Amino acid sequence: DSGLYIVATPIGNLADLSQRAVQLLAAADIVAVEDSRVTGKLLHHLGLKKKMRRYNDHSSADDRDRLLEQARAGIVVLVSDAGTPLISDPGYKLVRAAREQGIYVSTAPGPSAAIAALSISGLPTDVFLFAGFLPNKEKARADAIERYRTVDATLVFYESGPRLGAALAALASGLGDRKAAVARELTKKFEEVVTGSLADLAERYAADQPKGEIVLMVGPPAEAAAAESGDAEAALAEALLRLP
Ligand code: SAM
Repeated sequence: DSGLYIVATPIGNLADLSQRAVQLLAAADIVAVEDSRVTGKLLHHLGLKKKMRRYNDHSSADDRDRLLEQARAGIVVLVSDAGTPLISDPGYKLVRAAREQGIYVSTAPGPSAAIAALSISGLPTDVFLFAGFLPNKEKARADAIERYRTVDATLVFYESGPRLGAALAALASGLGDRKAAVARELTKKFEEVVTGSLADLAERYAADQPKGEIVLMVGPPAEAAAAESGDAEAALAEALLRLP
């Protein structure tokens, strides 16, 4: 069926590419890509030769309309370099415009670093807030953290090695000493999850700049409060509330 297909690709391990993702890529008339070198490699690996068009959220409205015109008559697949498009990646304006224009939109779901990290973090998963990348500048970052302070949910951020130490320090001072987890290089050779309090992790990563791709997660405030007050019963009640 013609339309726009949002297709997830692996976040590190090629074996995570779904059969539907492969089918849709094979059937695609056009593959809209973030970076043609990255997706070119994937297509080459699959033995596919496809027309690629670079697309991102800075693309012009004309570029978008051209892609959507093609999605009326054929199959347009949107992929990003890794993971699920639109999740801290391009595609939002394209999907919004497609919906506004009544174009069929569907998905081949698959890997996303945020969900993968959350699922092995040991932090509560019942309510979470995905916040993407924190701002780079100190003041903007502190303001963002302040907005999340009262949110009763596990917070999930994308981070990079060079920024991790500063982000952890800012989170520790803005949120108090909550439980946290750093998930690194998921599905790759050096996959690692380090858990601890925000203060512990801030100290650990102050000098040690980890390599690779990182998801940083911070537990909800209630959990920390109950644990900190040393009130075992309250902590247990809180933990029970969070069971699925
Ligand atoms: N759309 C992608 C997704 O669904 O996961 C995310 C794209 S975003 C531009 C890239 C960020 O995702 C990285 O900076 C890192 O924070 C996170 N990430 C991607 N792959 C990862 C991996 N294998 N392990 C840990 N974090 C990863």
